[in-house]
Amino acid sequence: MEISEKAPAKLNFSLDTPFRHPDGNPEWKMVMIAVDLADYVHIKTKTDSKDITVRTDTGFLPCDERNLAFQAAKKLQQLFHKNEGVEITIDKNIPVSAGMGGGSSDAAAVLRGLNKLWNLSLEKSQLAKIGLEIDSDVPFCIYSEPALVTGKGEIITPIGDLEPMCLVIAKPHDSVSTPSILKKIDYSKIVHQNVDGVLDAISKRDYTEMTKKMGNALEPITAERHPDIWKIKQKMLNFGCDAAQMSGSGPTVFGVCRKYQRAVRVYNGLRGFCNEVYIVRPFSLKE
Ligand code: ATP
Repeated sequence: MEISEKAPAKLNFSLDTPFRHPDGNPEWKMVMIAVDLADYVHIKTKTDSKDITVRTDTGFLPCDERNLAFQAAKKLQQLFHKNEGVEITIDKNIPVSAGMGGGSSDAAAVLRGLNKLWNLSLEKSQLAKIGLEIDSDVPFCIYSEPALVTGKGEIITPIGDLEPMCLVIAKPHDSVSTPSILKKIDYSKIVHQNVDGVLDAISKRDYTEMTKKMGNALEPITAERHPDIWKIKQKMLNFGCDAAQMSGSGPTVFGVCRKYQRAVRVYNGLRGFCNEVYIVRPFSLKE
């Protein structure tokens, strides 16, 4: 039996962390969206062995238990005492270690796919809870629709559709390790973000207000080590984006435009400076 799942990238429209839990994990308060830049994950169950295999078209991603898609299959296989093996093939399009949740989205796709192939009938909230044990972005990726994300990443509250908009995504050459940035958060200095303001603007369908209130509390921490982030952000604003900021722990920067023509202008302006640039739209997996 086999199934293919779309695994969309995510962006953080608003990112804040109110405090650190005693176990070291940040408490999150974020507005997250999925976009139509996606990996495609093909999942096949097999009865002849219990092996889990992962193949990707990248040549550099680990395909063993370090791969988050592998971990997702292993978790469900163990939890539900399945004797079947799983073959996973990932068509990778989302930049790696970019702050776009690519690995988490692949893992979420495997959880969604095996939930169907093995008739587990798990609710999204149950898959999210299992996903949290893999990475804090997996619960959001199970939903992949505009949402408020709180707790350690496991409390997902969908917030409805966004106004039409285009997003220009630029990935600087450097990669960023999320744990190294999270360790650097100093809660006595952090600049808290107006997450409620973004939620309010989205609920009122007020695009302009939303772009004014967006922000990412991790941006100054990552940008201190990767100053290209400031430069790309400034270029996006100069070329006409209504807002521009880093996603997740970076280093990817995205700009928001209402109209496609404006996004194309920003895209053309950035291409000489940054070799990975995309124009995308918000995407929702909501049925
Ligand atoms: P985060 O969700 O931690 O912000 P990110 O979007 O910045 O992650 P990813 O592309 O998910 O970054 O990669 C983070 C790490 O996960 C990398 O070290 C990568 O090798 C590893 N990884 C494991 N499985 C995958 C996968 N299927 N796709 C991409 N990266 C993976």
